[in-house]
Amino acid sequence: MSRVYNFSAGPSMLPLEVLERAQREMLDCNGSGQSVMEMSHRSKEYQAIIDEAEALLREIMEIPDNYKVLFLQGGASTQFAMMPLNLGNKNKKADFVTTGQWAKKAKQEASKYIQANEVASSADTTFSYIPELTKDMFDPEADYVHITFNNTIYGTRYTSLPDTGNVPLVADLSSNILSEVVDVSKFGMIYAGAQKNMGPAGVTVVIIREDLIGNAMDITPTMLNYETHSENGSMYNTPPTYAIYICKLVYEWIKAQGGIKEVQKVNEAKAKILYDYLDSSEMFRGTVVPKDRSLMNVPFVTDSEELNAKFIAEAKAQGFINLKGHRSVGGMRASIYNAMPTEGVEKLVAFMKKFEEENK
Ligand SMILES: *Cc1c(COP(=O)(O)O)cnc(C)c1O
Repeated sequence: MSRVYNFSAGPSMLPLEVLERAQREMLDCNGSGQSVMEMSHRSKEYQAIIDEAEALLREIMEIPDNYKVLFLQGGASTQFAMMPLNLGNKNKKADFVTTGQWAKKAKQEASKYIQANEVASSADTTFSYIPELTKDMFDPEADYVHITFNNTIYGTRYTSLPDTGNVPLVADLSSNILSEVVDVSKFGMIYAGAQKNMGPAGVTVVIIREDLIGNAMDITPTMLNYETHSENGSMYNTPPTYAIYICKLVYEWIKAQGGIKEVQKVNEAKAKILYDYLDSSEMFRGTVVPKDRSLMNVPFVTDSEELNAKFIAEAKAQGFINLKGHRSVGGMRASIYNAMPTEGVEKLVAFMKKFEEENK
């Protein structure tokens, strides 16, 4: 078996132990004589899997009892519409912080249904930082404030949360959920597509405070109403059964690592290896303001397009794949999610040093 180090922004690496377990259980999960893929979602075998997935997520994220956990489809992108339809029905306006393309899309989609106000933006420097946010910047009458906690494309993240007073803070955690300790009680709602740091594509997790459910606009399609899914235990229709099962295995893996706190320590050490090298290199440099650097997505460049292309090609030949940066930033991006072993980052840095030496 030969496996590459996959630095893709998503879908991305899954822990080897998770894949091996899924392989062992592929034909016969837990003595049921079936693959999870073949199970009726209404069977008691499958009910046990989704119940355990939810219980584990609640445990590892310490989700308070007054929050619902929903396993939905449609990706994080569908949340961009579900948020205004469900949360924006009081004063029909919400505040947005524009820290990248996903944040922008959340605002654009909301503006179809409500008044979407931009309170701050870092577009002036291609989103290389998180804007300073103070309480007076937010409209106390807004129905919610939306932030993108970790900006997958640009490699920034919030290191402290804005004070929005009584206005519910809603956050897109697609690329940093389970990577660092997050106090769920500070949010009205958290959502994340699974395919970056939690599982395969096809399932989106929504963690929502109960009082925010049940006030959707009349035009809200049944499937886009949080109440529909909350009242039916994420089983109003067929949920993405296999993707939820893999998430459950990932939650078990996180627990076996000692929980999110321990995983965070590893992530901090892992990111430091790469950032320290970028700070000392004369060829490569990071593109983000140091204080707002993401632990998960690390964009970097050289001063030459040619050198960038050469680096990406040579890295690929060595088994370091998907290092090409997003088209809007250029250069390179190394996504180093939970499942990327420390060894993968060490080997990448060793390769970068060698490349720098050879191409002076
Ligand atoms: C990938 C990503 C999205 C889009 O997710 P889909 O599941 O493809 O809709 C949204 N927000 C962030 C922060 C992302 O990283």
